[in-house]
Amino acid sequence: MANILVVDDAAFMRMMIKDILTKNGHEVVGEAADGAQAVERYQELRPDLVTMDITMPEVDGIEAIKRIRQIDPNARIIVCSAMGQQAMVIEAIQAGAKDFIVKPFQADRVVEAVQKALR
Ligand SMILES: [Mg+2]
Repeated sequence: MANILVVDDAAFMRMMIKDILTKNGHEVVGEAADGAQAVERYQELRPDLVTMDITMPEVDGIEAIKRIRQIDPNARIIVCSAMGQQAMVIEAIQAGAKDFIVKPFQADRVVEAVQKALR
């Protein structure tokens, strides 16, 4: 069981991830709709793990990963990408993301990525 912060600018995406995570025994302790909010929430909540959307208004996921890793070099972040965002995924991994999941989300793959990142 992990305390997880879910970051995505689309409310239905956050709901979808939250649903998968809670059904698999995790707790979603917070949500954020852009990168700046994600950094704030991370500082407040210190979650075990973050799921991070890439494309968001203002501060995007890549920048948010960099900022969070500056606050906490051990932060565990999984990046959520859409099809065809390979270059962004590579950038996210270089910025410190542990793994990535691709939209539309498959519950098995989400759970597996979370389990792996927590190890
Ligand atoms: Mg988005």
